[in-house]
Amino acid sequence: MIKIIFSGLLIILMTSCAAPPKILSCSYSGEPRWAEQKIAIKFYIDARFPIDKIDSLYIAVSKWNSIIGTPSIQIIPTNEIFDKKLDGINVILMEPEVNSLAYTRINISNDVIVDTDIVFNDNMDDYDVESVALHEFGHAVGLPHNNDVNSVMYPYLAQDTTKRQLTFKDVENVLCLYK
Ligand SMILES: [Zn+2]
Repeated sequence: MIKIIFSGLLIILMTSCAAPPKILSCSYSGEPRWAEQKIAIKFYIDARFPIDKIDSLYIAVSKWNSIIGTPSIQIIPTNEIFDKKLDGINVILMEPEVNSLAYTRINISNDVIVDTDIVFNDNMDDYDVESVALHEFGHAVGLPHNNDVNSVMYPYLAQDTTKRQLTFKDVENVLCLYK
């Protein structure tokens, strides 16, 4: 069974080697992005998010953070309850009745991302949380979907499969966004 990762709820939008390519071949530009490449995107994890799935988030974050010259992602477990709203506080939640595995909401002001929230489906029993998180954090830095089945930004993930590595093109795409 194939399940869509990314629903239409959004307001907008290799190998493990993360060495930047010498010459970038950028396939798109003008996507909304964070104002600065040196920004740290800080996410607070809602208290209701299952503790046993937080390690998967850390691993996914570490892969994006291995790229030099793009925003870094920081995740902070909390005992607090958060809401997904445009408040400049980036949160990671888990909710029932999400009609996809997860989605990332990005709020933009003048083509600059100012707030993002990631909402996971509370039933991910047959799906790899790390793979889904890698995809959603890609949205959080500003990447849209693409149609390369090997890319972590491909919008579908099959049940009981993993996609835990950024491709060379994934790395290139995010470098293009912040060049
Ligand atoms: Zn997506």
